[in-house]
Amino acid sequence: MHLFLFFHKCIICFIVKINLKHSLLFIIFCLYITSCSQEKPRYEQILGTICTVNLFEDGRDKIYDEIFVRLREIEREFSIDKKNSDMYRVNSRAYVEPVTVGQDVFSLMETSLLLSDITEGAFDVSVEPLVYLWNINSASPHVASQEELDEILPLVNYKNIVTNPGNRSIHFLKEGMGLDFGAIAKGFAADEVVKICEKHEVRRAIIDLGGNVYVYGQKANKKDWNVGIKNPEYPDSAPLVRVTLPQNSIVTSGVYERFFSVGQEKYHHIFSPFTGRPVDNELLSVTVICENSMLADGLSTAFFVLGEKKSRELIPKFSSIFNMQISAVFIKKNHEISFSRLFPYVRSILYDDWRVKEVYE
Ligand code: FAD
Ligand code: MG
Repeated sequence: MHLFLFFHKCIICFIVKINLKHSLLFIIFCLYITSCSQEKPRYEQILGTICTVNLFEDGRDKIYDEIFVRLREIEREFSIDKKNSDMYRVNSRAYVEPVTVGQDVFSLMETSLLLSDITEGAFDVSVEPLVYLWNINSASPHVASQEELDEILPLVNYKNIVTNPGNRSIHFLKEGMGLDFGAIAKGFAADEVVKICEKHEVRRAIIDLGGNVYVYGQKANKKDWNVGIKNPEYPDSAPLVRVTLPQNSIVTSGVYERFFSVGQEKYHHIFSPFTGRPVDNELLSVTVICENSMLADGLSTAFFVLGEKKSRELIPKFSSIFNMQISAVFIKKNHEISFSRLFPYVRSILYDDWRVKEVYE
């Protein structure tokens, strides 16, 4: 809009100075530029959520188109219920025989297995039988009984997945196993959008794939970005924490995103692969901040399962394995908010009835 007003003024100045033929050419040129460039974000329902991308002054249709084509491609590859998708083929045949998949699914498979290893099984993409049993995202969710869990739990174990990089195949060692990349695919997708931004030398962008946020580049005023972390008790109200930071991905896993209630009991969508039940610990949400969105996504889910103490112990190890700054914000049921050690960003708590708990390990 501002860009259009700017060109409009230029056109009037030029029309009085140059002849009609040239001014007409100039008008066509300006209209072309303004029609190809948009300062408003583009959004679309993909990956089961609203994906919003704002490229600010570099928002040309061509770049937006490329980004949303890529996001739709990722959705096709990773959707469990889309017939002929890699995931559909794996979940229906990988016990019978190794199933060859595309590069995207295979590389996310390998990263997921690494994350499972280093989080000691807290993150486990073989949770699909649990996701199916509880059916939390559906209109008819189900509270699983202990008998059902006893039957299903032996199927949830990443150690029973065999991969072969030679032919990019995935093989299950137990019948009934399945993969669900819901805890990491949006992060992978955000990193793919970042690659497109880098390719086109986009100066700044906000990528928000259903709460999986990436602030990219530098703001026009050269200041750091302000990102809000939701209040898990009032997710539709003002944010609870504001973090001011340079280019990074900020990803939150929490009890409030997807859940159903039976009486007083709430059942959310992050499962303990050890008990088969929605994780019930001191946490309401965990936010992970790092430059790689896939890692931030996977780790936020894993830290939620592991709880604050164990996650804190593991963060320095993970930072050194992945050679990048990894920070976390833990929001707890007792209204305490704690930050990982040496948290490098400016943070503010925006509600009076929450307090920061400093932890010195
Ligand atoms: P996260 O904490 O990042 O992940 C939680 C999810 O990870 C759970 O929902 C479960 O799927 C899985 N999970 C649970 N426990 C574990 C664990 N211990 N280890 C590893 N994984 C675990 N949702 C819809 O409602 N409708 C759709 O049509 C739809 N389509 C989708 C298509 C694709 C390709 C993908 C990847 C997801 C789709 N989703 C859909 C799911 C949705 O958009 C989110 O990805 C999902 O709900 C989790 O996102 P999150 O950031 O809230 O939670
Ligand atoms: Mg996640």
